[in-house]
Amino acid sequence: MNEKNTLYIVIPCYKEEAVLPETSKRLREKMNALRAAGKISEHSRVMFVNDGSSDQTWPIISRLHEQEPEMFSGVNLSRNRGHQNALLAGLLTAVNYADMIISMDADLQDDINAVDAMVDAYHEGYEVVYGVRSKRDKDTFFKRFTAEGFYKVMKALGVDIVFNHADYRLMSRRAVEGLSQFSEVNLFLRGIVPQIGYKWTTVSYERAERFAGESKYPLKKMIAFAADGITSFSVKPIRLVFSAGVVVFLISLVMLLYALISKLAGHTSAGWTSLMGSIWLLGGIQLLGLGIVGEYIGKIYNETKRRPRFIIESVLNKA
Ligand code: UDP
Ligand code: MG
Repeated sequence: MNEKNTLYIVIPCYKEEAVLPETSKRLREKMNALRAAGKISEHSRVMFVNDGSSDQTWPIISRLHEQEPEMFSGVNLSRNRGHQNALLAGLLTAVNYADMIISMDADLQDDINAVDAMVDAYHEGYEVVYGVRSKRDKDTFFKRFTAEGFYKVMKALGVDIVFNHADYRLMSRRAVEGLSQFSEVNLFLRGIVPQIGYKWTTVSYERAERFAGESKYPLKKMIAFAADGITSFSVKPIRLVFSAGVVVFLISLVMLLYALISKLAGHTSAGWTSLMGSIWLLGGIQLLGLGIVGEYIGKIYNETKRRPRFIIESVLNKA
């Protein structure tokens, strides 16, 4: 078993006063059980990140820390920055103290019992353990349809993500240090984590209903999140414009030929041939131009993200 076994569970919280008492209670039990089994060290903590909530979330977190400093810690953001940023803030704070970090939601939708399997996988040498939803029958049809459709679109666009995995995962300290090298501002963690690499596996769990309170992801945020994910990881939409340009350009050549033949055959009205020809030709050339410009913008976009070009897992060298 790995000697380095301090676990931090990082939980972003936005207006979660309704669930925090229950969440902290269940996590306390889980942490105590893991400590008793010797799987995690006494220095392990549950770290709540308050994402600029206007309700009692932070006072609750502060009180938990005051009463049980050896169980609960807190991070308070200066304002609401969204789930992904709050999660990153927690991961990058926890990495200073932890050997392994699990991220989960505050609302108990992620089955806490999957933590055991994640910790076991860490002790077996895995550095990233993805929690994967086995069933979604607790989700509404709409949520299930949109969410699963999203994963499929991402796959089709060539983005490397784990199907039905959200942000419930374990990462080793090394993996989080790798993550810290990604300096992009548009954060889409479930797309970035697979880029880090290292030995990984999955653990499946059943997604429960939100314990209390309302979803903090209304449709508008869901769409923004999906658009962010796609445009942060794929230049395929640009390529699509380019391909459309090529196709329209080819059609324009055929149309030009057709217009000329019609003119020669004599059954066209004046001006039709030149109009037909220029509409198709110009349309095709414009789309082609857009595609080419887009290709360069895509390059600039990728450069500005300043992603690490590699992360070394180990070096064999006798100096
Ligand atoms: N969350 C956050 N900041 C936000 C929105 C959400 O930290 O601006 C947290 C929220 O407290 C929860 C997690 O992100 O712990 C997932 O949110 P939610 O459960 O509302 O999303 P859903 O499960 O409905 O997709
Ligand atoms: Mg939820």
